Amino acid sequence: MFKKILVANRGEIALRIQRACRELGVKAVMVYSEADREAKYVKLAEEAVCIGPAPSGLSYLNMPAIISAAEVTDAEAIHPGYGFLSENADFAERVEKSGFQFIGPTPESIRIMGDKVSAKQAMIRAGVPCVPGSEGELPDDPVAMKRIAKAIGYPVIIKAAGGGGGRGMRVVHTEAALVNAVQMTKAEAGAAFNNPAVYMEKFLQNPRHIEIQILADKHKNAVYLGERDCSMQRRHQKVLEESPAPGINRKLIERIGERCVAACKKIGYRGAGTFEFLYEDGEFYFIEMNTRVQVEHPVTEMVTGIDIVKTQIMVAAGEKLPFTQRQIEVRGHAIECRVNAEDPYKFIPSPGRVTMWHAPGGPGVRVDSHVYTNYFVPPNYDSMVGKIIVHGDTREQAMARMRTALAETVVEGISTNIPLHRELMVDAKFMDGGTNIHYLEHWLEQHKR
Ligand code: ADP
Repeated sequence: MFKKILVANRGEIALRIQRACRELGVKAVMVYSEADREAKYVKLAEEAVCIGPAPSGLSYLNMPAIISAAEVTDAEAIHPGYGFLSENADFAERVEKSGFQFIGPTPESIRIMGDKVSAKQAMIRAGVPCVPGSEGELPDDPVAMKRIAKAIGYPVIIKAAGGGGGRGMRVVHTEAALVNAVQMTKAEAGAAFNNPAVYMEKFLQNPRHIEIQILADKHKNAVYLGERDCSMQRRHQKVLEESPAPGINRKLIERIGERCVAACKKIGYRGAGTFEFLYEDGEFYFIEMNTRVQVEHPVTEMVTGIDIVKTQIMVAAGEKLPFTQRQIEVRGHAIECRVNAEDPYKFIPSPGRVTMWHAPGGPGVRVDSHVYTNYFVPPNYDSMVGKIIVHGDTREQAMARMRTALAETVVEGISTNIPLHRELMVDAKFMDGGTNIHYLEHWLEQHKR
C-alpha cells in the first residue's frame, strides 16, 4: 500500500478521498487554490500545498503545479477525483512519467473512452449494445450526412466526440435543420473541447439513464456493483440518483453488468469506472464511459457496503479486488440528492458565506459535504456543495428517510436547491418510480414560478 497520496481535487470529493486515506492508514496531501484556503479538509490535513490562484486553469487544472506538489511532498500516487484533470489522458501520462501512480485507468484507456466515437467503437467490438448511429465521426459532406440521418431515422442527436458535462449536444427533428445543426455543434465543440469532431445517434424519445458501476484490478479481475438510475436530470445534468433502478428486471441488469465486466477485461481496464446507458423498452444502449469515480458513487456504496474510493486506492497499489462477483449483494435502496448552491427554480448560482449549516443525521443517513457554518462558497467552481444520501430496506423507506433528512437540513446565507428536492420527494410520479430523462424538465415547466 502507498504511504502517501496527493489528492488533486477540491470540495466534497477531496474530503471523501481524505477520509478513505485515513481509514487505510495512508497520508493524504491536500492541494488547494487561494480561494480554498479556508476549506476544513485543508486545515485538518497533515500536509497541504497551495497550487495557485482561484481560477481552476491556474490551480486545479495546472498540471506542473500539481506534479511539483507531489514531488515536494514525496507522495507516491495522485488521486484525481472527478472533474478537473480526472479524465485527462495527458495528465495521467505525465503523472506516470514523473514516477507517480495515477489512481485510475491507464492513459490509453482514458484516451479511448474520452473520445466518445472511439469509445463506442470499442464497445461495439466488446459486444456492448450501443445507440444506433453514425459509424464514427460524421462526414462534412451534406449529402452523406443526410443519408446517414435518413438511415437512422429522425429525430437524431448530434454529439461532440469530446463532449462532457451535458454540453455539446443538439437534437435535430427534420432534414431541413440538419446541416446547420451539425455546423453549429462542430463550431461549439471546437471551441469548448478543442475537438470539432461530432457524431450522430438516434434520439431516443423516452429513455431512462441507467449506469453500471464497475471495479477492476491489475490482475484481470473485474466486477460490477449493480446499477444506478440517474434519470432525474436538468439540461442533461443529474440532480438526484438512486439504486437499484425501480422496476427493471434483475436478470436484465445481470446480463448488462456481465457484458460490462467482459468489456473491462477485453480492454484491460483497471480502477473504478461507469458504463452509462440509455434504457428504453427493455433494451440498454451504451452512450459513454466515465473513467473515474462519480459524484453519485455513494448510492452504490450504501446498497453494496463496498467502499469504492478505498478500493480504487487498493487496486492502484496493485492489490487484488478483495471480493468476487458472487460476494456482491445489493441490499435495500439508496437515494442521493445533490445539494447545489443555486436558486432552486431559476438555477442561478448562489455563492457566498454560509451563515448556518446544519446537516441531517439518524439511521441510514449520510452527508458528504465540506461545508460548515461560516464557510464561504467560492464563485469559481461547480455549484455542488454536498450530497445527502439515504439508505432504507425499501424504496418507500428510503424516500421517507430522505424527506426527514431534507426537513432537518438548514442552510442559511446562500440559496440551495433543497426546496426542489423536498418537492420531488413528494411528487406522485417520482414516488411511483421509473420516470424518464425528460420528466424533471417537464415538471419544472409545469411548476414554473
Ligand atoms: P455527457 O458526457 O455530456 O454527460 P452523455 O453522452 O452521457 O453526455 O449524455 C448525457 C445525457 O444526454 C443523457 O443522460 C441523456 O439524458 C441525453 N442523451 C444523450 N444521448 C442521447 C440519445 N441518443 N437520445 C436521447 N437522449 C440522449
